[in-house]
Amino acid sequence: MPELPEVETTARGLRDRLIGRRVVGVAGVDWPRMLPNASADAIATALAGRAVTQVDRRGKYLLLLFEAGLSLALHRKMSGNVLLLRIEEPAAAHTHFILRFSDGLDLRFVDARKFGRIHLFSSDVEREQFLDQRLGPEPLTDLDGAILGERLRGRRRAIKTLLLDQSVVAGVGNLYADEALWEARIHPERGADSLTRPELRRLAAAIKRVLELGIERRGTSFSDYLDADGAPGTNQDYLNVYGRAARPCPRCGTPVSRVRLGARSSHFCARCQRPVR
Ligand code: ZN
Repeated sequence: MPELPEVETTARGLRDRLIGRRVVGVAGVDWPRMLPNASADAIATALAGRAVTQVDRRGKYLLLLFEAGLSLALHRKMSGNVLLLRIEEPAAAHTHFILRFSDGLDLRFVDARKFGRIHLFSSDVEREQFLDQRLGPEPLTDLDGAILGERLRGRRRAIKTLLLDQSVVAGVGNLYADEALWEARIHPERGADSLTRPELRRLAAAIKRVLELGIERRGTSFSDYLDADGAPGTNQDYLNVYGRAARPCPRCGTPVSRVRLGARSSHFCARCQRPVR
Protein backbone atom coordinates (compact mmCIF):
# COMPACT_ATOMS: atom_id res chain seq x y z
CA MET A 1 0.00 0.00 0.00
CA PRO A 2 1.33 3.47 -0.77
CA GLU A 3 2.22 5.18 2.51
CA LEU A 4 3.55 8.65 3.27
CA PRO A 5 6.90 8.31 1.42
CA GLU A 6 5.25 7.00 -1.73
CA VAL A 7 2.61 9.76 -1.76
CA GLU A 8 5.27 12.39 -1.01
CA THR A 9 7.46 11.10 -3.86
CA THR A 10 4.48 11.28 -6.22
CA ALA A 11 3.62 14.83 -5.08
CA ARG A 12 7.21 15.96 -5.64
CA GLY A 13 7.25 14.36 -9.07
CA LEU A 14 4.06 16.15 -10.11
CA ARG A 15 4.53 19.58 -8.55
CA ASP A 16 6.75 21.34 -11.08
CA ARG A 17 4.98 19.84 -14.05
CA LEU A 18 1.40 20.49 -12.96
CA ILE A 19 1.50 23.93 -11.37
CA GLY A 20 0.14 26.43 -13.88
CA ARG A 21 -1.45 23.84 -16.13
CA ARG A 22 -5.16 24.13 -16.85
CA VAL A 23 -7.72 21.35 -16.69
CA VAL A 24 -9.59 20.67 -19.91
CA GLY A 25 -11.67 17.68 -18.84
CA VAL A 26 -12.24 14.44 -16.97
CA ALA A 27 -12.31 11.08 -18.77
CA GLY A 28 -12.25 7.34 -18.24
CA VAL A 29 -14.48 7.12 -15.16
CA ASP A 30 -15.90 3.61 -15.19
CA TRP A 31 -16.14 3.05 -11.44
CA PRO A 32 -18.31 5.83 -9.96
CA ARG A 33 -17.70 4.61 -6.39
CA MET A 34 -14.22 6.05 -6.74
CA LEU A 35 -15.83 9.51 -6.59
CA PRO A 36 -17.70 9.56 -3.25
CA ASN A 37 -18.77 13.22 -3.16
CA ALA A 38 -19.03 14.44 -6.77
CA SER A 39 -19.78 12.92 -10.18
CA ALA A 40 -17.24 12.94 -13.00
CA ASP A 41 -19.37 15.62 -14.69
CA ALA A 42 -19.43 17.75 -11.56
CA ILE A 43 -15.64 17.50 -11.23
CA ALA A 44 -15.17 18.35 -14.91
CA THR A 45 -17.50 21.34 -14.67
CA ALA A 46 -15.91 22.65 -11.46
CA LEU A 47 -12.32 22.34 -12.70
CA ALA A 48 -12.69 23.22 -16.40
CA GLY A 49 -10.28 26.01 -17.29
CA ARG A 50 -8.79 26.15 -13.75
CA ALA A 51 -5.02 26.07 -13.34
CA VAL A 52 -3.24 23.97 -10.71
CA THR A 53 -1.86 26.24 -7.98
CA GLN A 54 -0.20 23.64 -5.72
CA VAL A 55 0.47 19.91 -5.39
CA ASP A 56 0.66 18.79 -1.79
CA ARG A 57 0.26 15.87 0.59
CA ARG A 58 -1.46 15.28 3.91
CA GLY A 59 -1.07 11.79 5.42
CA LYS A 60 -1.60 9.41 2.51
CA TYR A 61 -3.73 11.89 0.56
CA LEU A 62 -2.31 13.51 -2.56
CA LEU A 63 -3.76 17.02 -2.83
CA LEU A 64 -4.22 18.93 -6.09
CA LEU A 65 -5.14 22.57 -5.48
CA PHE A 66 -6.70 24.70 -8.20
CA GLU A 67 -7.69 28.32 -8.75
CA ALA A 68 -10.82 29.57 -6.99
CA GLY A 69 -10.13 27.47 -3.87
CA LEU A 70 -11.05 24.16 -5.53
CA SER A 71 -9.13 20.98 -4.78
CA LEU A 72 -9.01 17.23 -5.24
CA ALA A 73 -7.81 14.78 -2.56
CA LEU A 74 -6.71 11.42 -3.99
CA HIS A 75 -6.29 8.38 -1.77
CA ARG A 76 -4.66 5.37 -3.38
CA LYS A 77 -5.59 2.82 -0.69
CA MET A 78 -4.16 -0.64 -1.48
CA SER A 79 -2.80 -0.49 -4.99
CA GLY A 80 -3.50 2.82 -6.73
CA ASN A 81 -0.91 4.67 -8.78
CA VAL A 82 -1.06 8.22 -10.10
CA LEU A 83 0.76 8.57 -13.40
CA LEU A 84 1.54 11.52 -15.63
CA LEU A 85 1.34 10.55 -19.30
CA ARG A 86 0.89 12.10 -22.73
CA ILE A 87 -2.68 11.96 -24.00
CA GLU A 88 -1.66 9.77 -26.98
CA GLU A 89 -0.24 7.02 -24.77
CA PRO A 90 -2.61 4.05 -24.45
CA ALA A 91 -4.42 3.75 -21.13
CA ALA A 92 -3.06 0.99 -18.89
CA ALA A 93 -5.47 -1.67 -17.66
CA HIS A 94 -7.39 -0.52 -14.56
CA THR A 95 -7.24 3.18 -15.44
CA HIS A 96 -10.35 4.53 -13.67
CA PHE A 97 -9.92 8.30 -13.74
CA ILE A 98 -8.15 10.70 -16.09
CA LEU A 99 -7.69 14.38 -15.38
CA ARG A 100 -6.88 15.93 -18.73
CA PHE A 101 -4.72 19.05 -18.89
CA SER A 102 -3.98 21.57 -21.58
CA ASP A 103 -0.92 20.74 -23.72
CA GLY A 104 -1.96 17.09 -24.05
CA LEU A 105 -0.98 15.90 -20.58
CA ASP A 106 -3.01 13.34 -18.61
CA LEU A 107 -2.97 12.59 -14.89
CA ARG A 108 -4.22 9.00 -14.71
CA PHE A 109 -5.36 7.09 -11.66
CA VAL A 110 -4.61 3.40 -12.18
CA ASP A 111 -6.04 1.16 -9.48
CA ALA A 112 -6.41 -2.59 -10.02
CA ARG A 113 -8.28 -3.12 -6.75
CA LYS A 114 -10.57 -0.10 -7.10
CA PHE A 115 -10.33 0.90 -3.43
CA GLY A 116 -8.87 4.32 -4.32
CA ARG A 117 -10.99 7.43 -3.80
CA ILE A 118 -11.03 10.98 -5.15
CA HIS A 119 -12.84 13.76 -3.29
CA LEU A 120 -13.66 17.22 -4.69
CA PHE A 121 -13.66 20.23 -2.36
CA SER A 122 -14.93 23.71 -3.11
CA SER A 123 -12.88 25.53 -0.47
CA ASP A 124 -9.74 25.17 1.62
CA VAL A 125 -11.83 25.15 4.80
CA GLU A 126 -13.97 22.27 3.55
CA ARG A 127 -10.88 20.25 2.58
CA GLU A 128 -9.00 20.92 5.81
CA GLN A 129 -12.04 19.94 7.89
CA PHE A 130 -12.33 16.69 5.98
CA LEU A 131 -8.63 15.92 6.50
CA ASP A 132 -8.50 17.03 10.15
CA GLN A 133 -11.47 14.80 11.02
CA ARG A 134 -9.57 11.79 9.74
CA LEU A 135 -5.90 12.46 10.33
CA GLY A 136 -3.63 12.88 13.32
CA PRO A 137 -0.39 14.89 13.25
CA GLU A 138 2.00 14.87 10.30
CA PRO A 139 4.94 12.76 11.48
CA LEU A 140 7.71 14.65 9.64
CA THR A 141 6.83 18.07 11.04
CA ASP A 142 4.47 17.71 14.00
CA LEU A 143 5.49 14.62 15.96
CA ASP A 144 7.71 14.04 18.98
CA GLY A 145 7.62 11.71 21.96
CA ALA A 146 5.30 13.95 23.99
CA ILE A 147 2.76 14.35 21.18
CA LEU A 148 2.85 10.63 20.44
CA GLY A 149 2.30 9.95 24.15
CA GLU A 150 -0.78 12.21 24.15
CA ARG A 151 -2.24 10.42 21.14
CA LEU A 152 -1.74 7.03 22.84
CA ARG A 153 -2.72 7.91 26.40
CA GLY A 154 -5.19 5.46 27.95
CA ARG A 155 -5.15 3.25 24.87
CA ARG A 156 -4.43 -0.38 25.61
CA ARG A 157 -4.49 -1.80 22.12
CA ALA A 158 -1.29 -3.04 20.52
CA ILE A 159 1.05 -0.22 19.53
CA LYS A 160 1.31 -1.62 16.00
CA THR A 161 -2.46 -1.54 15.54
CA LEU A 162 -2.64 2.06 16.74
CA LEU A 163 0.19 3.18 14.47
CA LEU A 164 -1.97 2.07 11.54
CA ASP A 165 -4.85 4.24 12.79
CA GLN A 166 -4.55 7.41 10.71
CA SER A 167 -6.18 9.48 13.45
CA VAL A 168 -3.25 8.66 15.78
CA VAL A 169 -0.46 9.55 13.33
CA ALA A 170 -1.04 10.35 9.65
CA GLY A 171 0.68 8.53 6.81
CA VAL A 172 2.09 5.40 8.49
CA GLY A 173 0.99 2.01 7.14
CA ASN A 174 1.94 -1.61 7.71
CA LEU A 175 5.41 -1.50 6.16
CA TYR A 176 6.78 1.66 7.78
CA ALA A 177 5.14 0.77 11.13
CA ASP A 178 7.04 -2.54 11.22
CA GLU A 179 10.28 -0.81 10.26
CA ALA A 180 9.81 1.96 12.85
CA LEU A 181 9.03 -0.49 15.69
CA TRP A 182 12.12 -2.51 14.81
CA GLU A 183 14.23 0.65 14.71
CA ALA A 184 12.87 1.68 18.14
CA ARG A 185 13.19 -1.88 19.54
CA ILE A 186 9.53 -2.05 20.58
CA HIS A 187 7.46 -5.23 20.24
CA PRO A 188 4.42 -4.68 17.97
CA GLU A 189 2.02 -6.23 20.50
CA ARG A 190 3.02 -4.01 23.41
CA GLY A 191 0.01 -2.18 24.87
CA ALA A 192 0.28 1.40 23.60
CA ASP A 193 -0.19 2.93 27.06
CA SER A 194 2.63 0.78 28.48
CA LEU A 195 5.32 2.62 26.49
CA THR A 196 7.70 4.63 28.67
CA ARG A 197 8.71 8.19 27.85
CA PRO A 198 12.10 7.13 26.45
CA GLU A 199 10.33 4.52 24.32
CA LEU A 200 7.88 7.12 23.01
CA ARG A 201 10.76 9.44 22.14
CA ARG A 202 12.57 6.60 20.39
CA LEU A 203 9.46 5.57 18.49
CA ALA A 204 8.62 9.11 17.32
CA ALA A 205 12.21 9.53 16.11
CA ALA A 206 12.15 6.10 14.44
CA ILE A 207 8.90 6.91 12.60
CA LYS A 208 10.45 10.09 11.22
CA ARG A 209 13.66 8.36 10.29
CA VAL A 210 12.08 5.46 8.37
CA LEU A 211 9.73 7.84 6.54
CA GLU A 212 12.54 10.25 5.64
CA LEU A 213 14.71 7.40 4.38
CA GLY A 214 11.72 6.11 2.41
CA ILE A 215 11.36 9.50 0.72
CA GLU A 216 15.11 9.71 0.03
CA ARG A 217 14.85 6.34 -1.70
CA ARG A 218 11.79 7.43 -3.66
CA GLY A 219 9.42 5.02 -1.93
CA THR A 220 9.13 1.26 -1.48
CA SER A 221 8.02 -0.77 -4.49
CA PHE A 222 7.24 -3.93 -2.56
CA SER A 223 4.19 -4.69 -4.68
CA ASP A 224 2.45 -2.18 -6.96
CA TYR A 225 3.92 1.20 -6.18
CA LEU A 226 5.28 3.35 -9.02
CA ASP A 227 6.05 7.07 -9.03
CA ALA A 228 4.36 9.64 -11.30
CA ASP A 229 6.67 8.63 -14.15
CA GLY A 230 6.00 4.91 -13.73
CA ALA A 231 9.36 4.22 -12.05
CA PRO A 232 9.75 2.05 -8.92
CA GLY A 233 11.40 3.26 -5.71
CA THR A 234 14.42 1.59 -4.11
CA ASN A 235 13.52 1.36 -0.41
CA GLN A 236 12.50 -2.31 -0.78
CA ASP A 237 16.23 -3.07 -1.02
CA TYR A 238 16.86 -1.67 2.47
CA LEU A 239 14.04 -3.14 4.59
CA ASN A 240 15.12 -4.55 7.95
CA VAL A 241 12.12 -6.69 8.90
CA TYR A 242 9.12 -6.07 6.64
CA GLY A 243 8.62 -9.00 4.26
CA ARG A 244 11.73 -10.70 5.69
CA ALA A 245 10.19 -13.44 7.85
CA ALA A 246 12.76 -16.11 8.85
CA ARG A 247 15.65 -14.07 7.46
CA PRO A 248 18.24 -12.75 9.94
CA CYS A 249 17.61 -9.54 11.87
CA PRO A 250 20.26 -7.09 10.54
CA ARG A 251 21.07 -6.08 14.13
CA CYS A 252 21.42 -9.41 15.93
CA GLY A 253 20.98 -12.22 13.41
CA THR A 254 17.88 -13.74 15.05
CA PRO A 255 15.39 -14.92 12.39
CA VAL A 256 12.66 -12.31 11.85
CA SER A 257 9.26 -13.35 13.27
CA ARG A 258 5.89 -12.76 11.68
CA VAL A 259 2.59 -12.66 13.60
CA ARG A 260 -0.97 -11.85 12.60
CA LEU A 261 -2.17 -8.78 14.41
CA GLY A 262 -5.70 -7.78 13.48
CA ALA A 263 -5.98 -8.39 9.76
CA ARG A 264 -2.34 -7.58 9.02
CA SER A 265 0.96 -9.36 9.51
CA SER A 266 3.64 -7.83 11.67
CA HIS A 267 7.34 -8.49 11.26
CA PHE A 268 9.72 -8.08 14.18
CA CYS A 269 12.82 -9.44 15.89
CA ALA A 270 11.90 -11.43 19.00
CA ARG A 271 15.31 -10.69 20.51
CA CYS A 272 15.58 -6.94 19.82
CA GLN A 273 11.88 -6.27 20.44
CA ARG A 274 10.88 -7.90 23.72
CA PRO A 275 7.15 -8.43 24.42
CA VAL A 276 7.24 -7.07 28.00
CA ARG A 277 9.60 -4.85 29.84
ZN1 ZN B 1 17.37 -8.45 16.36
